[in-house]
Amino acid sequence: FGTWELRGHAATKAVTAALAAGYRHLDTASMYGNESQVGQAVTASGVNRSELFVTTKIWNDDHGFDRSRRAVEQSGRRLDGQNAPNPIDLVLIHWPGGSDRLDTWRQLEALLAEGAVRAIGVSNYSVADLEQLAEISSITPMVNQIEFNPLVYRRELPTLDYCRTAGIQVTAWRPLFKGRGLDHPLITEIAGRLDRTAAQVLLRWSIQHGVVPLPKSSSAGRMAENLAVFDFELSTEDMESLNTLGEL
Ligand code: NDP
Repeated sequence: FGTWELRGHAATKAVTAALAAGYRHLDTASMYGNESQVGQAVTASGVNRSELFVTTKIWNDDHGFDRSRRAVEQSGRRLDGQNAPNPIDLVLIHWPGGSDRLDTWRQLEALLAEGAVRAIGVSNYSVADLEQLAEISSITPMVNQIEFNPLVYRRELPTLDYCRTAGIQVTAWRPLFKGRGLDHPLITEIAGRLDRTAAQVLLRWSIQHGVVPLPKSSSAGRMAENLAVFDFELSTEDMESLNTLGEL
């Protein structure tokens, strides 16, 4: 469940509804300004913490060995309800950043070794960024979170291939085109034929590429719709035609 642009009460309300609907993977970031609300909703939900997976991200201003540690500690305190998302399940470097990003990664490796975080990864890393990281690091990122939907498929294919080979799980931001363009005729034709919605077709497309989509919604109805994607499959032909959407 994605939480970008959900703030204040709207964030608490949406995350509460998402947990009630059955979402168990929450995606936030210090930059979203809603870690406290995510933590509060988790605590109030009564869902066993061990069933949840909470991701947060280190923002661009917090690169560097010492700064990144402080940033992760602050995120941990904000996310930490009584039922404590602590250690944080997954911390990502939000954007590649400048030369100090390698120090940020070294700090994440240290935090992982201490057990302060359960998994570490990156976001918006290209093949070149991942190759540079591989040269200095002892731990391969567990996740790379990138924009992933049919419109950017061609552009992201090299990154997807690299991550597959390296054993890096790709997660998808903007899996629903941010809600715009869902009326594309190719998508609506497939959705109509399968008696599914356009959003469900897009989420299924990500999943069948082995990518974890992180759909955001503030509507309980759409949250449920976006979860109901595990009981149908897109054919190879439909997958291939969606792959070309960005070129049409
Ligand atoms: P999404 O592709 O998830 O689209 C969200 C939009 O789609 C909202 O406006 C929502 O409206 C609408 N929507 C949701 N479900 C449906 C549906 N079934 N039918 C029609 N419209 C729907 O975009 P995001 O940009 O939010 O990306 C998802 C998540 O990825 C973010 O929330 C964030 O957690 C993460 N992200 C990470 C980035 C990074 O740099 N690492 C960058 C951007 C996002 P409504 O709320 O009204 O339902």
